Amino acid sequence: MNDQPIKLFNSLTREVEEFQPVHPGEARVYTCGPTVYNYPHIGNMRAYVFADILGRTLRWHGLDLTHVINITDVGHLTDDADEGEDKMERMAAQRAQSIWEIAAHYTAAFKADVAALNIREPAEWTVATDYIEPMLEFAKSIADKHCYELESGLYFDVSTVADYGRLARAVTGDGEGRIDTVAGKRNAADFAIWRKTPAGETRQMEWDSPWGKGAPGWHLECSVMSEAKLGFPFDIHTGGIDHREIHHPNEIAQNQARCDCGSLNEASHSGARIWMHNNFLVERSGKMSKSSGEFLRLQLLIDKGFHPLAYRMMCLQAHYRSELEFSWDGLRAALVRLKRMVMQAERLRDGAATPGDHPKLSDPQDAFAAAMGDDLNTPLALTAFEDALGTKKLDLGIKRHVIEQMDTVLGLGLMELRRQDLRVRPKAATITEAEIEAALASRKQARTAKDFAASDAIRDGLTAAGVEVMDGDPLGWDWKV
Ligand code: AMP
Ligand code: ZN
Repeated sequence: MNDQPIKLFNSLTREVEEFQPVHPGEARVYTCGPTVYNYPHIGNMRAYVFADILGRTLRWHGLDLTHVINITDVGHLTDDADEGEDKMERMAAQRAQSIWEIAAHYTAAFKADVAALNIREPAEWTVATDYIEPMLEFAKSIADKHCYELESGLYFDVSTVADYGRLARAVTGDGEGRIDTVAGKRNAADFAIWRKTPAGETRQMEWDSPWGKGAPGWHLECSVMSEAKLGFPFDIHTGGIDHREIHHPNEIAQNQARCDCGSLNEASHSGARIWMHNNFLVERSGKMSKSSGEFLRLQLLIDKGFHPLAYRMMCLQAHYRSELEFSWDGLRAALVRLKRMVMQAERLRDGAATPGDHPKLSDPQDAFAAAMGDDLNTPLALTAFEDALGTKKLDLGIKRHVIEQMDTVLGLGLMELRRQDLRVRPKAATITEAEIEAALASRKQARTAKDFAASDAIRDGLTAAGVEVMDGDPLGWDWKV
C-alpha cells in the first residue's frame, strides 16, 4: 500500500495532474482494446503493458480498480476516419470464414499474448457486438440534436459540441487536413455513428436501425461500453497515441452530446477525467506492418528464443510517453537485465517475507514510489528495483517483502520465474536440451582428465549445432542455443 499522491499526464489538458477519483477509494479505467481481425503486433501489446502498469499502480495505492478493455469485432474501418472497408468483413472475405470465426481466433490469440506478458486480466472484456442495442439507444438519444442522415449513414455533426478536437489540438473545419470523400458531410471531421449497408449488398454483420440496416460506427462502441460499465464520468481512459487524433476526439464529442454538457474546460464533460496515451513502438524496417511476411508478433520473438517477459522489460525501460525503438539487440539487452534480476530474486525465495508497514525501509523503496507516482516513470522505478535487489542493508524478510511489492507493481514475475525459464529454445534449433546437457557433461569429464583435444571437439560440435557455450558466464547462463 502506498498513500502518496499519483500524478498522471492528462492528454486533454496536456498537464501532469494529481489523480482524484470520481468515486472515493475507487479507480475506474477504460482501455481501447484490439480489433480482432489479425494477430496483434508487439506495438499493440505495448498499449496493454502500459494500461496494465497503470492499473497495477492504482491498486498499489489502495484503490479498488475496475478495469474494462473492449474487444472490437465490428465497425473499425481500414482507415480510422470513415474511409475504407470494415477490417473484420475484409479479413473474413479473404479467408472465406465467418466474422465470428475470425473474431474468436484472434481474440484467443490476443489473450494468449496478454497472459504471456503478465498483463492482468481486466475486470471485464466487453465485446462490441454484445452492445448493439445500447449503441442504438445511445445513437437515438443524440440523433435529433447532433446528427444528420446521408445516403451512407447517420453522421455526427462536430460543430454541435463545444471544443471539438481539443484532445488532438487539431484545427477543426476547413483547415483540418482530413480528406473528405463522403459527399454531403457538413464538416470534414464529421463521422459516422451508423453505417448503412449499401443498397443491393448484404453484410455478414448488420442490424436493423431507424436509419436502415447497417452497423455501428467504430467510435460509438467505446462511448457506450465505457458508460455502461463505468458510469459517466469515470476516471481514466487509455489508448495508443494514434487515438488522440481521431478516435478519442470523436468519443469525446459523442459523450458531450450524450450528457448535454458544455465546454471541455471541465474535463469530466469529456466522459473521463483523465485521458492517457502511450507512445508508439517503432521499427524502421516495416516489420510491424501486419501485411509484411515476418511481422513482429510476440510469437516471433518466442520463436527466436526470447522469453516474452524480455519484451515486457523492454517496454518498462522506456517511459510510456516516449517513442520506443525496437531492435533485436535491445531485446537481447532487456533479456539479460531480466535474467540478472531473476538470479538476485532467486536467492531471496527460500525465506519468508516479513509483511507489514515498516517505517522507512530503504532509499530504493522511496525512489521506487516517487518514480511510479511521477506519471509512471518505469525506467527510474526499474533502477530503484535493482538497487533494492542488490542492497545488503536490509533484513532478509523485509527485503523480500519490499521486492514482492515492487514486483507486484511492475509485473515481471520475479518471485516465480526461474533462470531456466528464460532459456527459450528457438524454433529453428534441432538439438535438444538433454543432448546439450549430455555433451556438456562429457566435456567436463574430458577437461577434468585434461584431455583438451576431446573437450575442444565437443565444444566445436555444439557450436556447429548452434549452441554457444559460455564458460564462467557471470550470469550463470552456461549455454545458449
Ligand atoms: P488496434 O487493434 O489497431 O485498434 O490497436 C490496438 C492498440 O494498439 C491501440 O491502443 C493502438 O493505439 C495501439 N497501437 C497501435 N500501433 C502501436 C504501436 N506501434 N505502438 C504502440 N501502440 C500501438
Ligand atoms: Zn476505443
